[in-house]
Amino acid sequence: MHKEAYLVKELSAGAVQCQACEHFCALKPGESGKCGVRRNIDGTLYLLVYGDAVAVHVDPIEKKPLFHFMPRAEALSIGTYGCNFHCPFCQNWQMSQMRDLDERGGSGRRRHMPEALVDACVRDNIPVIAYTYNEPTVFFEYTYDTAKLAHQQGIKNVYVSNGYMSQAALDMIEPYLDGINVDLKAFTEDFYREQCQARLEPVKRNIAHMARETDIWVEVTTLLVPGLNDSEAELRAMASWMAEVDPDMPWHISAFHPDYEMLDRPPTPGPALLGAYDIGKAAGLHHVYVGNVMDTDRGSTYCPQCGERLIERRWYSVRELWSDPGACPRCDESLAGVWS
Ligand code: SF4
Repeated sequence: MHKEAYLVKELSAGAVQCQACEHFCALKPGESGKCGVRRNIDGTLYLLVYGDAVAVHVDPIEKKPLFHFMPRAEALSIGTYGCNFHCPFCQNWQMSQMRDLDERGGSGRRRHMPEALVDACVRDNIPVIAYTYNEPTVFFEYTYDTAKLAHQQGIKNVYVSNGYMSQAALDMIEPYLDGINVDLKAFTEDFYREQCQARLEPVKRNIAHMARETDIWVEVTTLLVPGLNDSEAELRAMASWMAEVDPDMPWHISAFHPDYEMLDRPPTPGPALLGAYDIGKAAGLHHVYVGNVMDTDRGSTYCPQCGERLIERRWYSVRELWSDPGACPRCDESLAGVWS
């Protein structure tokens, strides 16, 4: 359904500027933004997919991935259509790149309104709602209303995001957002411009701001695409920057597999993943993980002080090896994260 947008600036002659993400689309009446799900209708900006979750699943929180956030918790995970990025390697492109909304996202769909989502969590004792599958910023109003209601019931909220939200959007959602996994897709402006039609700098700004100046728990994911973002120099620069922001910020290095428009490249070779892992550790990051492959050693969590294994993961099978979550049983070091 349509919902009037919360973050908008009026321009002249019925035009409006969406303030939700760093594209700041200026839209004349009848025009839609780059994300495809926000449209100027007769001088008013609307979100077109409010309540229209097209994917609703209960996932383990580890699948987001969030490894330092309520281990083994279930997360009611929702997504809509649309995205403000157009990455040719998107692994969820059927949802993110859908633009045929009048046909697919209009009236007649079964709605999942915020109240119903929160009621379902209360009924089934689900402690987290994840806004995921496609970029949550593009369905901001839906996430905001749901997150606010969720907090009233003691339910936590997490985003899985490309990190391209505006400062205004971040400020507005911040009191209700408990955790986020941000895709840091590469570490060059060229990559962001050519592959995503976006910019790197706002993503860095948002990661640093959230990690340093808010209570939002931040983890970062990088999909390692052969030949595109996997040079040693680029990965070193990325890892050093993350370690400077916060060495406790977990970094997930994820294996690429050919998808959507990028079918001409091989999957990420195992040695490249391991090399990136070593680069992250050498840069001073305390928690580096490899993803999309079975690797218990590099998918488990260790005490940064004494090296004791604290959480063991085999795919989504998770075993906590501590009796006091967040504290190393061997040396008593506190582990950064949200543990309850
Ligand atoms: S959320 Fe959509 S409409 Fe708004 S600025 Fe971003 S791409 Fe444009």
